[in-house]
Amino acid sequence: MTATLMNGTALAARIRAEVAVEARELGSAGLATILVGDDPASEIYIARKHAAATEVGIQTRDVRLPASTPEDEVVALIEELNADDSIDGMLVQLPLPKGMDEVRVTHAVDPIKDVDGFHPVNAGNLYLGTPLHIPATAWGCMELLAEYGVEVGGADAVVIGRSEIVGKPMAILLLAANATVTICHSRTKDLAEHTRRADIVVAAVGRPWLVTPDMVKPGAAVVDVGINRTEHGLRGDVDPAVAEVAGYLTPVPGGVGPMTIALLLRSTLRAARYRRGLLAFRGN
Ligand code: NDP
Repeated sequence: MTATLMNGTALAARIRAEVAVEARELGSAGLATILVGDDPASEIYIARKHAAATEVGIQTRDVRLPASTPEDEVVALIEELNADDSIDGMLVQLPLPKGMDEVRVTHAVDPIKDVDGFHPVNAGNLYLGTPLHIPATAWGCMELLAEYGVEVGGADAVVIGRSEIVGKPMAILLLAANATVTICHSRTKDLAEHTRRADIVVAAVGRPWLVTPDMVKPGAAVVDVGINRTEHGLRGDVDPAVAEVAGYLTPVPGGVGPMTIALLLRSTLRAARYRRGLLAFRGN
């Protein structure tokens, strides 16, 4: 068997085109990003987010602060942007420099503008099934499964990884879509025993090619969130040879990565529409 590759580049382009139409209809939408320090990977991500936002007609503000900026100053800046009417969405690029309190900083963002969905109000609303902002990577994985007609309801789904930004929201979204969800992590006793039973595997670990063909049930849908820079180049968490066993597989690159940015843009439009009274949600 050779898996159908789930093309995130193509689907993301379509979502961006939809967002562009919405942005035009709305007239204006603003996204601010805050990057503290000079982590090279973060700089690449921020540049991509700005380019994508600009392309769909979202105005952007690119705030860069040196790593030595006092935490109080970062929080004060976030509060300024919270009060700035021209800013609909805001994100603080992670990781923050060592020693800076990630919880305090991300919690300072107004939940309505928190397009990453990391604020406890947004995490809580997702948990309760009344989301405003959904973390973009997990949302992107769900959109890819839907696009390729992968049946989630009643499926056995295994999420590898339990981070706040990917693994946990992924598990909640799969559960909300009626999958039977198992969350695996570094203390899971026999990972392969779980994955071999799964109809859907989502790998969000950060270990190159951790998921090998022998760990996958024939025909399963495998979503690879991993982005690992290795001496051999960019590698996902899933060995590409899994394509010989799986029914569906996201490639790296060109799978989940582009979806994350597209859904961040969609979240910015959601924030803009909500702030103009054009979107209701039940979680407030
Ligand atoms: P974290 O490091 O925060 O979390 C990794 C998770 O994997 C943890 O829950 C950890 O368990 C678990 N884990 C580690 N080793 C193993 C193992 N051997 N077996 C099973 N579970 C294990 O990473 P993130 O969630 O932030 O990111 C995961 C990957 O996704 C990274 O490669 C990252 O670069 C990528 N990523 C990609 C994005 C995209 O847009 N495509 C966006 C965000 C992330 P424990 O909790 O016990 O420590």
